[in-house]
Amino acid sequence: MVFHSEYAAVPVLDEPIHQAVLGHAAPRYGDATALIDGTDPTGATSVSYALLDLQHRRVAAALAESGLRKGDVLALHSPNSVLFPAVFYGATRAGASVTTVHPLATAEEFAKQIADSKARWIVTIAPLLETARRAAELSGCIAEIFVCDRADGHRSVLDMFASTAPEPHVEIDPGEDIAALPYSSGTTGVPKGVMLTHRSIATNLAQIHPLAPMGPGDRILAVLPFFHIYGLTALLNAPLRHGATVVVLPRFDLDQFLATIERHRITGLYVAPPIVLALAKHPAVAQYDLSSLEYIVSAAAPLDAQLAAACSARLKLPPVRQAYGMTELSPGTHAVPLSAANPPPGTVGKLMPGTEMRLLSLDEPGRDVGPGETGEIAIRGPQVMKGYLGRPDATAEMIDADGWVHTGDIGHVDADGWLFVVDRVKELIKYKGFQVAPAELEALLLTHDAVADAAVVGVYDEDGTEVPCAYVVRAQSSPDLTAEDVMAYVAERVAPYKKVRRVEFIGGVPRAATGKILRRELRERHQVRNSEK
Ligand code: AMP
Repeated sequence: MVFHSEYAAVPVLDEPIHQAVLGHAAPRYGDATALIDGTDPTGATSVSYALLDLQHRRVAAALAESGLRKGDVLALHSPNSVLFPAVFYGATRAGASVTTVHPLATAEEFAKQIADSKARWIVTIAPLLETARRAAELSGCIAEIFVCDRADGHRSVLDMFASTAPEPHVEIDPGEDIAALPYSSGTTGVPKGVMLTHRSIATNLAQIHPLAPMGPGDRILAVLPFFHIYGLTALLNAPLRHGATVVVLPRFDLDQFLATIERHRITGLYVAPPIVLALAKHPAVAQYDLSSLEYIVSAAAPLDAQLAAACSARLKLPPVRQAYGMTELSPGTHAVPLSAANPPPGTVGKLMPGTEMRLLSLDEPGRDVGPGETGEIAIRGPQVMKGYLGRPDATAEMIDADGWVHTGDIGHVDADGWLFVVDRVKELIKYKGFQVAPAELEALLLTHDAVADAAVVGVYDEDGTEVPCAYVVRAQSSPDLTAEDVMAYVAERVAPYKKVRRVEFIGGVPRAATGKILRRELRERHQVRNSEK
């Protein structure tokens, strides 16, 4: 059976994303504050809607002048800053697709993304310039590196703002042209470029709005990264389309985060479960006045219902709202409406308008299950990605012939239409909301001489955080290989959030006849061992 949204349909937004956001907001909210730099102790660094509109046009002009043309790819390699949106919307205005890069990526990881996405421009920040330069060198296909701030030998985004070049007039086909190209491993394999069109991202804003409306007067704290589609949508596109003010922080530091809520009288938080944990438990929370907060939304990873309740009780707030989605879905499909008085604990919400869902039986392929039964979540709607860049096979595995995305998540729906996500059938591990692709770590582990075979799965530690655990088969010649050796080997070669945090040695990796790793068996083995402790 197909589940439909109880919300009235919303129009598909057939517009370029910069138009759907700044074209909508600048004429309406011109002098209002769009962005505030949360790291500025004076609180004085802010950008109005009119200025942001001007800045992104200047960026578009400077990029066009530097040779960027429609369909080119620009790699945006930066933590959150007040310059990030001008670069993102400026690049899309110039006709580029923006591939967002994790600021902690190693040069090798970054180079892989450049090579796969065929990026020719990089915008980075001065402290990351060396990594960007090395990645450019390794990939050999970068035309120019810009820096957000200033750095010798490179043009900066501030120079772009001063550009007198003519603004390019690029025809964009919102349903076909790619605005964002974030990387995600999806249900299996290594990270792949997720082609999100202007229309899919813009329409998702219209789909989210009835459940989580934003407007002038809302002050949203942007500490989750803009490079992830959750941050890009919930912390930039949605608030900026609707006239809210976004207070920007480059990283999560609990004291700075709490002080920023207090100083800027933040009204809404969009966070991931580790921040809910900190808000529920950390003693520092009591030292700040957080009374301006009206709501907290958590998404990107499973949130424990008791933890959510402890957080809202401590802060005297309505229940923490969950939302659910994935990069391949631009990203939102479900959210708990901000207006819901008593959502059932643990739910990730109701279907957004224009979104359909099926729950596919896990036991009987081809059968759908109804309310109360558990199945794999499949989604159809205008927010579905166009596909994985250059990987028709992986795309076909993810999106079936009828347009359903098989999410690899398992859930059930109650009689009132609330969805509960209970497990995953896909390989993906989410460490604090960040994607870790087991296939990538397994390939790396096999490059170690002392490792004969390896499998990586997600296991939960004491405070409910999912962490990558490697099951390693020692090579016969290396009986002395230790867990520390394995962890250090991986840590030297990957971004810190991808580190292997547990190692277990086994005699052989369990595999199906097809060679596929039996991950469930490994996860169950971990649970049994833990319960025996
Ligand atoms: P990403 O593409 O990085 O956004 O990751 C998407 C995946 O994160 C989903 O397929 C889920 O496995 C997980 N996820 C996102 N939101 C939730 C949620 N509210 N509860 C449980 N898992 C979630």
